[in-house]
Amino acid sequence: MLNADLAHLADEVRRVEQAADWIHLDVMDNQFVPNLTFGLPVVESLMRSTSLPADCHLMIADPDRWAPAYAEAGAGSVTFHVEAADNATRLCREIRAAGARASVALKPGTDISVIEELLPELDMILIMTVEPGFGGQSFMADMLPKVQRARALADRTGTDIWVQVDGGIDLTSIGRCAEAGADVFVAGSAVYRADDPARMVDELRTVAQGACAHP
Ligand code: ZN
Repeated sequence: MLNADLAHLADEVRRVEQAADWIHLDVMDNQFVPNLTFGLPVVESLMRSTSLPADCHLMIADPDRWAPAYAEAGAGSVTFHVEAADNATRLCREIRAAGARASVALKPGTDISVIEELLPELDMILIMTVEPGFGGQSFMADMLPKVQRARALADRTGTDIWVQVDGGIDLTSIGRCAEAGADVFVAGSAVYRADDPARMVDELRTVAQGACAHP
């Protein structure tokens, strides 16, 4: 939603409601990232205005304190940054106990090995394919090997861990991410800068499914 019109968020959600599987909400605190978006009250009101499950991506400095509340408020998935968490294991358990999928995000400079011990607690791994903080950035193709490694780690657990990519996902990059093993795709600018956002979601899905290494 970072690329949507923030003054009309509920309307913007409705524009993709028939096409998208989830609504991805980028929460930024102007501390973990140099940008500020919205927090729990706005997320709660958006969740009331849509039937889509909320995928909350928390780019915040103190997820240990704030992340469980998003799960308690009814988010379907809560992602926190591994770089920001004091006790990632405990946090994942709290998120799951509150009924949401637990997910961890890695900035481009963070090595995938830091989450190996956390795998049993995870429902999703988010590989950032831009530096978090702003929409509209170019896709970082050098993150594709990291997506592959995340996929390999996820598969090794034998559980259904999703691998999500976020940042610069459009019709040119989405197929490469799917080939590398991603199975959840966040598209912001590509969707909201399109004339018909819902149709763009469908087109993106078709390209990803055509390239998918992990159906
Ligand atoms: Zn995001």
